[in-house]
Amino acid sequence: RSSVLEPTNPENVKVAIRIKPLLEDDLRENKKSIWMNSAHSIGLNPEFDSKYNRQSTSHSYGIIFSALIADHVFTGSSNEVVFENIVSPVINSCVIGYNAYGQTASGKSYTMSGHQTEPGVIPRAIDQVFRLIEESNEDKEYLLRVSFLEIYNETIRDLLAPEQRDIRICEDRKRGIYLSPLKEEIVTCREHVMSVINNGEMNRHISETDFNTYSSRSHTIFQMVIESRDRSHIPFRDSKLTRILQPSLTGNAKVAIICTISPVYENLEETINTLKFASRVK
Ligand code: ADP
Repeated sequence: RSSVLEPTNPENVKVAIRIKPLLEDDLRENKKSIWMNSAHSIGLNPEFDSKYNRQSTSHSYGIIFSALIADHVFTGSSNEVVFENIVSPVINSCVIGYNAYGQTASGKSYTMSGHQTEPGVIPRAIDQVFRLIEESNEDKEYLLRVSFLEIYNETIRDLLAPEQRDIRICEDRKRGIYLSPLKEEIVTCREHVMSVINNGEMNRHISETDFNTYSSRSHTIFQMVIESRDRSHIPFRDSKLTRILQPSLTGNAKVAIICTISPVYENLEETINTLKFASRVK
């Protein structure tokens, strides 16, 4: 596989592909899924591959993707299964990041936020973090900080500080890659995290009505940093210290990326872009 980003340890990056099932409207229009998959690979159904190649002037994507390997390929799975396989295993580490990548209406919100009866991976992860902290050794104390940002047209916006301008990607030998300035909010309970997320969502660039036009240029990244220390050390609740500490997007951070894709032929071009992204990050 090609590798553009080279993480220090490839085990730290898990890439999953989630194929949205055909929904009522698709079935009514007799649409079919153009993808075939196993638990760890995905390929274009040959029938659609040749149809695409006849119409396309570019390369044969079908060949490129005839055997894309991912850590998991989900189809028809619940948010619980996606969470247990992809997100839950990274939660015990110090820094967690979740990322869903995909075209509009492919299922990013469904996967990340979900809804009341089918909570997505973010509320599940937050529950698990607070459960682990409650169950952990009393000699430890924890500090949790969250940040939430949107990348829109190559511009970074801090969803927790929308008035902030000129957020830059910085790099330094010790901290790795980080964003500055970036607001990090210290959180103390599940409800607190959920309210930070809800406030951030309201600051998103894109209103529902603009979704189709702009969505492919908008990505959001929610990050929660978990630090633990034995009690007796320098009190790390010191807010100046915690302000100065910034999250690292590389190094030892463990990241689960779920690429959501549409099953139907009409979306093939966008789906291919998403799969290219999936193949690059590993
Ligand atoms: P996005 O956030 O990528 O724009 P959504 O998450 O809003 O897309 O999904 C679009 C529609 O498809 C929603 O109505 C959602 O409920 C439905 N959907 C997405 N993924 C799934 C899935 N895995 N199973 C069932 N319905 C899904």
